[in-house]
Amino acid sequence: MRMLIHGGSIFTDGSLFEHTNVRIDQEGWISEVGVGLEPVNDELVINAEGLTILPGLIDCHVHITFPGLPDPSGRVNMTAADAALIGARNAYETLLGGFTTVRSLGGLDNAEIALSRAQRAGIIAGARIIPAGRVICMTGGHSHFWGREIDGPDEARKAAREQLKAGAEVIKLIATGGILTEGVDPGQAELTESEMRAAVQVAHRAGKKAVAHAQGAEGIRNALEAGIDSIEHGIFLTEELIRHMVQHGTYLVPTLSAATKILEYGTAHGIPAYAVDKARRLAAIRQANIKNAIRSGVRIALGTDAGTPFNRHGENFNELALLVEYGLEPLQALNAATAQAADNIGLGHEIGRIQSGFRADMVLISGSMDEPFVRFKERIVYILQQGKMVRGLDG
Ligand SMILES: [Zn+2]
Repeated sequence: MRMLIHGGSIFTDGSLFEHTNVRIDQEGWISEVGVGLEPVNDELVINAEGLTILPGLIDCHVHITFPGLPDPSGRVNMTAADAALIGARNAYETLLGGFTTVRSLGGLDNAEIALSRAQRAGIIAGARIIPAGRVICMTGGHSHFWGREIDGPDEARKAAREQLKAGAEVIKLIATGGILTEGVDPGQAELTESEMRAAVQVAHRAGKKAVAHAQGAEGIRNALEAGIDSIEHGIFLTEELIRHMVQHGTYLVPTLSAATKILEYGTAHGIPAYAVDKARRLAAIRQANIKNAIRSGVRIALGTDAGTPFNRHGENFNELALLVEYGLEPLQALNAATAQAADNIGLGHEIGRIQSGFRADMVLISGSMDEPFVRFKERIVYILQQGKMVRGLDG
């Protein structure tokens, strides 16, 4: 439907512009942005007086098929069909939370690739999904119970090619141990530099991004040397690694929500002790190093790791508040969830900005931009995805 959003302020590329109107064409693309646009013909006019028009938010790191159970080993009994059904609900909850696009970094049996296709075909309503499908890890490494285990560069290359063939739009590599796999150490390197380089090359030749779950310093270094596009988590980032990332423009996706929820709920709510212990041991280190990375000007893109224990789909906005707590200004946090997130996932030319020629993904919110983000979801008045009204008008 042709639409004119009238009377609000727009937020795009880190700045606010007052009294700016946005015109949306029949196919759901932004056709005009400017001051003083007047309605024509049969255009639907949305009165945005007092509202701020944000680009639809983007979460660069979720697990759309994970239900957020306290104990991730509960997933072992899930089938791909279970994962797809749970994922469909999660994608819808995510959309209602104002996130119109997510990058899903791994799950069971490529179910998230099927979900991505279903969303695009209009079979399900939900956030647009950029799927990794199965993660690529070393034999017995972090995430091995749902990942594709490989050893050596040849197998890494083959696994990355398999994922692309299956429809993956990003390649996820496991560079270090992690918190939610029993018996692995987040500080320890896993896939080698040469294994990751082989997979990164496959991704780049296909025009896709390659990202690394990377917590320990040696693994982060391996991933950076292999040419990775973004570091996920980055707990043990050193000064030297931070400098490397700033120089190369490598993104950091800190996923602060994940550990925050594990520590908030703890073993009392059924989270396994090994995970809570690791999260507790790493809390101060993470805080110091991520704050340092933010201060040093590393590019930050928002990611929650939603789907990990109690880290619920639809509450992705919590990460905005955490990013502010770690040193971003509120508008910078919003930029990390829009323009920067879009650039990070390689879609900076079509989403993440209120700009002519971009998809009309928008969230209209009430209140001042200085307000803390904890009440973000209650402030949402309208949500549009590709020009389609998801929330608003008739409730
Ligand atoms: Zn993750």
